[in-house]
Amino acid sequence: GILGFAELLSEPDLSGEEKSKYIGVIMKSGQRMLNIINDLIDISKIEAGQMELVVSNTKVNEQLDFLYTFFKPEAESKSIKFNCKKGLGDNESNIITDKEKLYAILTNLLKNAMKYTHAGGVEYGYSQKGEAGKPVLEFFVKDTGIGIAPDRQQAIFERFVQADLQISKPYEGAGLGLAITKAYCEMLGGDLWVESEPGKGSIFRFTIPYQVKQKPVTNKPSQKSIGISEEKLAKLKILAVEDDETADIFLTEILEGKCRELLHVKNGEEAIKTCKANPDIDLVLMDIKMPVMDGYTATREIRKFNTKVIIIAQTAYALAGDKEKAIAAGCNDYIAKPIKKLELYNLLGKHF
Ligand code: ADP
Repeated sequence: GILGFAELLSEPDLSGEEKSKYIGVIMKSGQRMLNIINDLIDISKIEAGQMELVVSNTKVNEQLDFLYTFFKPEAESKSIKFNCKKGLGDNESNIITDKEKLYAILTNLLKNAMKYTHAGGVEYGYSQKGEAGKPVLEFFVKDTGIGIAPDRQQAIFERFVQADLQISKPYEGAGLGLAITKAYCEMLGGDLWVESEPGKGSIFRFTIPYQVKQKPVTNKPSQKSIGISEEKLAKLKILAVEDDETADIFLTEILEGKCRELLHVKNGEEAIKTCKANPDIDLVLMDIKMPVMDGYTATREIRKFNTKVIIIAQTAYALAGDKEKAIAAGCNDYIAKPIKKLELYNLLGKHF
């Protein structure tokens, strides 16, 4: 999809309509490939025992609301019902867990429910359960979709396994989602299982410990981000620290000519040197994984002589724990790769 249509795109005399059609295919294929790569990285990290838990206060109801907003348009476009059942009030549902993993679990299950349901509806939610002294939150994602045959209900949790063994099925996917989801549930101290009837639908359930947070979270006024103005951007001297050529070309495309000056280096060591030689740099876009010296080390070193410069880490989405590490190393913020122009501009608006 990506290579074939990129080649077609390079042909002369294409109509505007053809071009946007090809670009659409490339973007969709790119997104699919990115999803698969992220899944592969996740499963490799899980198997290598390198997937870390990042535990913090988590607002369960807020996550559920966010997922509702996210999936509602898909439900509408398929003309199926979509409901959310929150089992506790907002205050009681603030728990201590790994919020990224909980979010990933629910997203995976809802994605599947949407994918395999063509009539009826999808419902999700949670309730408090468990024995005294061992309370849990039991979540569910229920659909009226194609269902899963009894003899496939265990296998689907294995890696690279899909329930339908016929090759001619119209559903895309690599069969990794549920393996990752189950591993995450277990990492969080819970379990995941399914009840399903072919032709009627499925209900996936999982538990996580109901661990209420100790202190009430102070509601910080939310940092509403608005994109950076052209005038402000024009004043900034920016250092792009990026070893990957394509990523660097992308940064150049969206910043060159719009900011005061754009400098480029390819590793952490060069970044330190350039920051020392240019104390007027306003912003460093710091890649994390680089040869010679990585972004964490470089940031820690830069902070020893410059506490003012804004450093934004560029982290790969799949490596969620990197965000916390970047902040701990001294970065002001982070942005997930692949970088989207609007997101970067919003982030710049927040800091400048
Ligand atoms: P995939 O990316 O192929 O969807 P998953 O690991 O998420 O991989 O799911 C494995 C298989 O389990 C799917 O290929 C599908 O056959 C089956 N499955 C998962 N969720 C559902 C569901 N809600 N309804 C029916 N079948 C499902």
